[in-house]
Amino acid sequence: MSANLSAKCDESVDVLISGGGIAGLIAAAAFGASGHSVLCVDPAPPVTSEGAAGADLRSTCFLQPSIRVLEEAGLWERLAPHATPLQIMRIVDAGGAEAAARMVREFDASEISDKPFGWNLQNWLLKREISARLETLQNVRFLPGTGTAALTARSSEAIVTLTNGSRVAAKLVVGADGRNSPVREALGIGVKTFRYGQKALAFAVTHDRAHDNISTEVHRSGGPFTLVPLPDREESTPRRWSGWNAGRKSRGLPLCLPMRSMPR
Ligand SMILES: Cc1cc2nc3c(=O)[nH]c(=O)nc-3n(C[C@H](O)[C@H](O)[C@H](O)COP(=O)(O)OP(=O)(O)OC[C@H]3O[C@@H](n4cnc5c(N)ncnc54)[C@H](O)[C@@H]3O)c2cc1C
Repeated sequence: MSANLSAKCDESVDVLISGGGIAGLIAAAAFGASGHSVLCVDPAPPVTSEGAAGADLRSTCFLQPSIRVLEEAGLWERLAPHATPLQIMRIVDAGGAEAAARMVREFDASEISDKPFGWNLQNWLLKREISARLETLQNVRFLPGTGTAALTARSSEAIVTLTNGSRVAAKLVVGADGRNSPVREALGIGVKTFRYGQKALAFAVTHDRAHDNISTEVHRSGGPFTLVPLPDREESTPRRWSGWNAGRKSRGLPLCLPMRSMPR
């Protein structure tokens, strides 16, 4: 980078992370825990309570190898109490003319190790816990409300212009800024888009029957319908709190098999 450009920057960091979603926040914690100076920016402040407008009701399943990354980032000890093991994956083929299960197969993690396949966490809760962890790292700054506006890459550094007008020099830029990534666009990285003609809903339900740490995927020709296990909503009741994700051709509502047709 020319000295000229570098001199015009307001600050300099090791790593600039564009995007404070799950990927960006975890990257900020990981780089921060390993001693790098980090600036993470996102135009949207994280919504950190479930009932608030704009809360991300999606969930993320962290498979076994990712736990070591979370441990090294100082995150797993915060997250573990909220995580639900994914012990059994139940796959349901309901692709026939009738909205009914044609074939059901279950895969139990105990067949391959003494641990679950992974652990599920709700995205809004991840944002709350990871943001809290970032506050404990003095070398990490998270700037919600400010986004990436432009990027100029050079051989040794990149200059990132933020939406608040400031310019930051960074040795590494991480593009974790979603499907319309401004970092990707600024670097001229091409993208191929496939339209499936589907819409997705993400939501959470409570139910009386225990989910037994089973993830259920119902596959219809119009799209999948997935139930992932989440922690009990209230400790004192046997009810479980689960997230459902559904996809379906855009002309209709998501596929909803009647509960009685769900296999046990
Ligand atoms: C319906 C649905 C259900 C899903 N269910 C599951 C599941 O059960 N399990 C699972 O593991 N995964 C699931 N996923 C996938 C998972 O939720 C996503 O892959 C994951 O959350 C993506 O995280 P991310 O941080 O990469 O991106 P995002 O969450 O999209 O975050 C991108 C961030 O970049 C920010 N941004 C945008 N513009 C800028 C800018 N100019 N500058 C800086 N920041 C910017 C945005 O504000 C946003 O906060 C699901 C996805 C969907 C759609």
